[in-house]
Amino acid sequence: MHNAACKILGIDDQFIFLPAEVAPKNLKLAIDGLKGLQIRGASVTIPHKMAVTALLHKVEEDAKAIGAVNTIVNRDGVLTGYNTDWKGAIDALEKRTNLKGKKAAVIGAGGAARGIVYGLIKKGAFVKIFNRSKDKGASLAAEFGCDFTSLDQTGEIAEMDIIINATPLGMTENVSPIEKQLLNSAQLVFDIVYSPKETKLIKYAKEKGAKIIYGYEMLLNQGIYQFKLFTGYDAPVEVMRKILEKHLR
Ligand code: NAP
Repeated sequence: MHNAACKILGIDDQFIFLPAEVAPKNLKLAIDGLKGLQIRGASVTIPHKMAVTALLHKVEEDAKAIGAVNTIVNRDGVLTGYNTDWKGAIDALEKRTNLKGKKAAVIGAGGAARGIVYGLIKKGAFVKIFNRSKDKGASLAAEFGCDFTSLDQTGEIAEMDIIINATPLGMTENVSPIEKQLLNSAQLVFDIVYSPKETKLIKYAKEKGAKIIYGYEMLLNQGIYQFKLFTGYDAPVEVMRKILEKHLR
């Protein structure tokens, strides 16, 4: 997505985006390497988003409040952390609905859920977290001042306006985090799992006539913000969307 964007803008001689798998024990070495090699920035993903915050010179306000960084920019050796995930998710939701006063169920309490809960509350939604492990769910809810219920008590989801899956359920196995009968045509269902595109939850939502948001929209949106931070250029959105859709097919 980033490389296709650089190519179309003719800046692929200045920027190239490469993947690197970093073991948790090597995280500090990898971050120091950004400075040593004068690498412009990095996307950070599972499982490093929270741990990396302690290794940077600065963390911008939203990322600090969320407690997770998914984007690092290196400006003359000064590493600043950002979180573009939450904006990517909220942009996708706000394209469909006004979040103020809406009842939102967030399934999951991990790194991605943290950003989404933060954004929903910032926009005036009422949030209830549903999570498998009670301690983690309850502690996230307490941190952000919202409600929590265990993932084995999902009945209330039937009354929610917005349902967001922020767990990996549906990614490797054809499973949904919730039953189909909890969904209805008045709801907006957002599955942040982006591969496969048509997860079981998305299929259930379509069958029930609910509005849907695919996970790749969040991935694209967060990448649009990242691209500007990395390169200083506005992202060529349609080029990025097309390449993402092609790869996820
Ligand atoms: P994470 O920090 O590891 O959190 C995972 C969450 O899912 C935890 O709350 C965990 O519950 C729950 N969970 C995991 N396996 C489960 C299971 N079998 N049954 C019930 N709950 C389960 O992961 P993350 O970084 O938040 O990522 C979550 C998903 O979002 C991943 O699939 C990732 O690819 C996707 N994602 C998508 C985007 C996008 O742009 N679309 C961005 C970020 C992440 P416990 O607390 O009980 O362990």
